[in-house]
Amino acid sequence: MAYDFDLFVIGAGSGGVRAARFAAGFGAKVAVAESRYLGGTCVNVGCVPKKLLVYGAHVADELEQAAGFGWTLEEGHFDWGTLIANKNREIERLNGIYRNLLVNSGVTLLQGHARITGANQVEVDGQRFSAEHILIATGGWPQVPDIPGKELAITSNEAFYLKDLPRRVLVVGGGYIAVEFAGIFQGLGADTTLLYRGDLFLRGFDGSVRTHLKEELEKRGLNLQFNADIQRIDKLDDGSLKATLKDGRELVADCVFYATGRRPMLDNLGLENTGVELDARGYIRVDEQYQTTAPSILAIGDVIGRVQLTPVALAEGIAVARRLFKPEQYRPVDYQNIPTAVFSQPPIGTVGLTEEQALEAGHKVQIFESRFRAMKLTLTDIQEKTLMKLVVDAETDRVLGCHMVGPDAGEIIQGLGIALKAGATKQQFDETIGVHPTAAEEFVTMRTVTR
Ligand code: FAD
Ligand code: NDP
Repeated sequence: MAYDFDLFVIGAGSGGVRAARFAAGFGAKVAVAESRYLGGTCVNVGCVPKKLLVYGAHVADELEQAAGFGWTLEEGHFDWGTLIANKNREIERLNGIYRNLLVNSGVTLLQGHARITGANQVEVDGQRFSAEHILIATGGWPQVPDIPGKELAITSNEAFYLKDLPRRVLVVGGGYIAVEFAGIFQGLGADTTLLYRGDLFLRGFDGSVRTHLKEELEKRGLNLQFNADIQRIDKLDDGSLKATLKDGRELVADCVFYATGRRPMLDNLGLENTGVELDARGYIRVDEQYQTTAPSILAIGDVIGRVQLTPVALAEGIAVARRLFKPEQYRPVDYQNIPTAVFSQPPIGTVGLTEEQALEAGHKVQIFESRFRAMKLTLTDIQEKTLMKLVVDAETDRVLGCHMVGPDAGEIIQGLGIALKAGATKQQFDETIGVHPTAAEEFVTMRTVTR
């Protein structure tokens, strides 16, 4: 049977665009439908604008440090409107680049909401298309718990377009987005409180990292409230918001920002017309090759709920394109040792096993841990400490995990990710010559076992 397309991709985000471009490059006839914005979450309301705001907030650190290096500055003034307008301009530029990337690689771009109407059929705003394979790459959407007044709260989607910087912000959640936005709001001058329902935020990260970041954020004056959860939100007469906590406390702010996880984006996707099944958490169930329970339909990225990171969606997109149209080049995505950063202030960089995971997996571990004041701060009054930690298998000497909290942690951890993928041992770390003077050299000079 002749189809309109070999591959129909739903969603022009990180995973969808990558799969479409690679598939077209392999000679396939490809269409992509996008209902909202080219480049998806990462480009429009995720990684990219977030990192630009993080840079903006970080300027406050540089200004604070300037005096120690002999600079006298007039009193600084921050203008949120300028930062957001400049950010928006950059995002529009990237939207254009994504459009060109798709069109120039021969992909048919359809702007509109796609709905699957059959095993090989997709409808985009009333227009029907047939395809041999359909790829669902529709990403995720912020999830806010169902409490009275939830409509008064915002999520990351809205935060990127706020007209003004709120004076007082309550950030709810203890994951990547909560910690990153708490740093953005506070760095830019808002009186910021982070509320997390458990004992300590960043569940799943190394224990030393979580404790160290908590201490550093408190030093910076961020109000951290653990074992705290909002029961209801009410609007007060003066327009501010009152959050009543489950323990009865009341907090007043101008903005309540929820970062309590993301759900798969399946709205009006037409899955009822297919044999696609969801897993217990509500994400699309796929096998090792991203095949759903319907033979002609595949899914990748945040919508399958594995590792919700852009580079992972990109890798999955390439894997699908190769599997379908260049099988001789197919290689499975390696989910081991994925390096990642949390762009908090200071940031976290991490790759491999945490100490807790290593112990749980039955490793006998040696821990190397170092806390130091970065050289750049020695001419300032700032007392921030950097943390570096190696988790080593005591029997094989293999480095199982590298963890850092401190300036440039994301930049530093990328290279260590290669070392871990190559199976480096602690001895090989020790035999690597350091780059001096840097903070990164500490990773190759830690000699004393901490525990
Ligand atoms: P998406 O990029 O979400 O793309 C899905 C696309 O599908 C969207 O454009 C959507 O409009 C479209 N779509 C949905 N339904 C339909 C439909 N029915 N018809 C047509 N189009 C549809 N990851 C990192 O690695 N580093 C970071 O620093 C980072 N920061 C982040 C910060 C924030 C605030 C957020 C929210 C996420 C961040 N992420 C980060 C995660 C990253 O953005 C996602 O993992 C990544 O975008 C997932 O890609 P995807 O292709 O699965 O989906
Ligand atoms: P996460 O899943 O990382 O964190 C969600 C947080 O919200 C957790 O602390 C969770 O607590 C808490 N939570 C969940 N439900 C509730 C509830 N009902 N009430 C109160 N608290 C609740 O989600 P995020 O929204 O922060 O980010 C989504 C994903 O996007 C991340 O996991 C990451 O994969 C990706 N991302 C990556 C970034 C990067 O690479 N730098 C940056 C931003 C996002 P608990 O731990 O107790 O369950």
